[in-house]
Amino acid sequence: MSIRRIRVFPDPILRKKCRVVRRVDDKIRELAYDMIETMDAASGVGLAANQVGALQRVVTLHLPGDEDAIILINPEIRDTEGEREIIEGCLSFPGYEGMVKRSVSVKARWLDENGSKMKVTTEDLFAQVLEHEVYHLNGILYIDHLLEHEKLDAAGTHVEEGEPHMHDIEVEVHADHSDDDEVEPQESDIEVVHTTIKFNDLYSESLVDQMHYDLRKAGYALPPSESKAGDRVESDDPHLDGGVILDPEHKH
Ligand code: ZN
Repeated sequence: MSIRRIRVFPDPILRKKCRVVRRVDDKIRELAYDMIETMDAASGVGLAANQVGALQRVVTLHLPGDEDAIILINPEIRDTEGEREIIEGCLSFPGYEGMVKRSVSVKARWLDENGSKMKVTTEDLFAQVLEHEVYHLNGILYIDHLLEHEKLDAAGTHVEEGEPHMHDIEVEVHADHSDDDEVEPQESDIEVVHTTIKFNDLYSESLVDQMHYDLRKAGYALPPSESKAGDRVESDDPHLDGGVILDPEHKH
């Protein structure tokens, strides 16, 4: 298994429709296992194959509290009931969340990694993630149906502590211990203050920067970017002040 890089908006592959899987073979299983590893590394609840660059109808889910992730091949939503408004995020938009409308209850079917037919009628987070991921396979993103027109908030803004959430990405903070600002800091001068995932394994930093730019250009209202400068490492060690936070929008 290996971690694959997560594609971020506006990567065109996120807008492509994934193809139906004709045969559940080792290649599909390998893709699915990589997706699970990638999703778990990002503390994500769900991932669709085009988010890691594969145009196959494969989804992985890992619901909070469940020991194992599950693999859904060719998932289909058969029926939905009710409507609710809910805050949602997406691993392809790290650092953001927005309000969307989702079904209360979802009836779905798919094949598992052995090609066995599976089905479920479910509510809550499972239903939400099923809809979110099946939309992904059709090239539709949650930002396409935000309730408040084109408004995104910083991830975590609306989340209660401990509440299950779709995109809890922990961040890595590098503190520069070197005294000279001009010189590239030595490896030994850098202290990783807090790390949960290897951010660079999951995202290309320059693409995340580009995502912020493109979202603004596309007319999305984003939280103020001043947080970048204001969001600093707090430490008694004066050298730690002002460490680089790779994902300043994310608070937890
Ligand atoms: Zn998503």
